[in-house]
Amino acid sequence: MIVVIKKNQNQKQVDNLTNWIKDLGLDVHISRGENSTIIGLVGDTSKVDIDLVRSLDIVESVTRVQEPYKNANRKFHPEDTIVDVAGHKFGGKHFQFIAGPCSVESEKQIIEVAEAVKKAGATLLRGGAFKPRTSPYSFQGLGLDGLKLLKKAKQETGMPIVTELMSERYLDDFEGVDVIQIGARNMQNFDLLKAVGRLKVPVLLKRGISATIEEWLMSAEYIMSEGNENVILCERGIRTFEPYTRNTLDLSAIPILKERTHLPVIVDPSHASGVARLVRPLSLASVGAGADGLIIEVHNDPTHALCDGAQSLKPEQFEEVVNSVRPLLPVVNKEMDV
Ligand code: PEP
Ligand code: MN
Repeated sequence: MIVVIKKNQNQKQVDNLTNWIKDLGLDVHISRGENSTIIGLVGDTSKVDIDLVRSLDIVESVTRVQEPYKNANRKFHPEDTIVDVAGHKFGGKHFQFIAGPCSVESEKQIIEVAEAVKKAGATLLRGGAFKPRTSPYSFQGLGLDGLKLLKKAKQETGMPIVTELMSERYLDDFEGVDVIQIGARNMQNFDLLKAVGRLKVPVLLKRGISATIEEWLMSAEYIMSEGNENVILCERGIRTFEPYTRNTLDLSAIPILKERTHLPVIVDPSHASGVARLVRPLSLASVGAGADGLIIEVHNDPTHALCDGAQSLKPEQFEEVVNSVRPLLPVVNKEMDV
């Protein structure tokens, strides 16, 4: 349920209303915009006498929110949420490139790639330390050693880092990680979602392999309902019948999400296609559809990559993607930090 407060109302009366709602056992989410204040109610709203609330002097309107996601709903928060990662902003008019290898392989590799992608225009560095692989016999990532190397790359380059958390047991080791990635395979690992929800660190929530948009938003809701509102959604392709690509990039998810949620939305064209030469066209299409950023796999030697070499760009190819995206940004009313 959302309660829209009339313009310029006495704060004391607004507080009285929110306290009364809280006393009914509901959670309250307040969004103060330029033109109005919206009180979002989460929980069992059947206890609320809607006519009584409507009759209050300070109340403009009251509506029930049909969708099961509340905190993530744009009706609760009409303005775009801006997620700030060490000064780099996601959402609104901002556009960011996150780039780096699928997995951290060595100090030389991660630092070389970090320096190259930074020079090309990436603001955040990605790199997997814990890898969710389909086969238990495939390279599983360097684990804690990989995490150390990624932190070293952060120190050397000043780039904030993004890496995947697969288990709650490594939460303490993730101290110093700027964005925690929840991968496609863990999108519905509800304990993990709740655990990152208790933090303040921004979370990059990837879409599940065959998740509907609503299921994905409900996963964001798990994180947000624990108190962490710093959620960035990442469309990374969904499973379809098409074998020419690894997944099918669901471009329509971007404008749909923009209508339904206030959270920033970025796209991962690398996992969506699985093919390096498709990364540039899919990046351009994503920007056109309204994405707030791109996360792209870049490797200094893709043919010898321990994971996802076929979809990884060389640094110079990544630079071409950045340079072709740049002139498109003013058309969609966005800008890069660098
Ligand atoms: C990744 O980013 O390396 C990854 C494994 O992504 P996803 O969870 O989207 O498959
Ligand atoms: Mn990968």
